[in-house]
Amino acid sequence: MELVFDGHNDVLLRLWRSRAAGLDPIREFIGGCREGHIDAPRAKAGGLAGGLCAIYIPSLRDFTLKEPDANGHYVTPLEAPLERPISLDIGLQMAAIALQLDQAGGWRLCRSTADIRSALDDGVFAAVLHMEGCEPIDADLAALDVFHAAGLRSLGPVWSRHNIFGHGVPFAFPMSPDTGPGLTEAGFELVRACNRLGILIDLAHITEKGFWDVADTSDQPLIASHSNAHALTPVARNLTDRQLDAIRERKGLVGLNYAVTMLREDSRDDSHTPLSDMVRHVDYLVDRMGIDCVALGSDFDGATIPAAIGDAAGNQKLVAALRSAGYADDDLKKICRENWLRVLGQAWHE
Ligand SMILES: [Zn+2]
Repeated sequence: MELVFDGHNDVLLRLWRSRAAGLDPIREFIGGCREGHIDAPRAKAGGLAGGLCAIYIPSLRDFTLKEPDANGHYVTPLEAPLERPISLDIGLQMAAIALQLDQAGGWRLCRSTADIRSALDDGVFAAVLHMEGCEPIDADLAALDVFHAAGLRSLGPVWSRHNIFGHGVPFAFPMSPDTGPGLTEAGFELVRACNRLGILIDLAHITEKGFWDVADTSDQPLIASHSNAHALTPVARNLTDRQLDAIRERKGLVGLNYAVTMLREDSRDDSHTPLSDMVRHVDYLVDRMGIDCVALGSDFDGATIPAAIGDAAGNQKLVAALRSAGYADDDLKKICRENWLRVLGQAWHE
């Protein structure tokens, strides 16, 4: 089994919803459940040894992708911006679940690559706290310091939504990621603060203009935690060749997103998507950027993923498909965890 440290999941969102429904999210994670993709037993079974766990503030109405037209094309309008006070409440509630899971021994909240490696050695899920869209944080960045003290070590300034820091891309096919403005003045300040504090900056969901704004400002490797190749699946969420080339030059990485809409040639939201579509994107990313710049970013608990994987327990099926496609053990080690550990260590000033 090749242990995987994965670049993106939404398990905290699922657990937060469980608590809102009156269930016990700590017991649900530790003991296992039938919902969603990740809990401790399924992660263990699939060699999902850890990953970046997102604080993500859901939109007020349930998010659904727009139905495609007769040509299979769709444009899902951007969600409305969120109010900060309610976003801060929800962000704190999700951070609290992350801390409670750590205290209960359900996972280990990691603040360094040494923490991650020792959790991997001990067989405990290595969670890194991430924020996907910084709606809980005001332009004075006071909340950034507090979340950092609580363990936050990675953030994406925006989700597919506008906020005070910048602009996100819509879920749309086919569409270029160049859909509007990039970072705001507050966004540039946020990037500088992350560089100073040692918080990884994630470029998933940001507009192409925002991508270049971060590239011009940040001193970190360029990271897209859960994105794929636009040349193969031209959704606005995927990365153009020019973006991939910049990530290679800055020795960053792209984590393969398992979302079927970002893997399939036709971008259909259909779980009957073969593993070969995942291998095709990995091959493309490796050809373009080299083996050191490709990793995994499943989007477990946040997207429709291939039925062939199903949930975290099926994670090794992708590893097996990559091995059959010719990836050697050393390549798989890099894709599955070592590339993530390298860029995290750099972003964290280790
Ligand atoms: Zn996402």
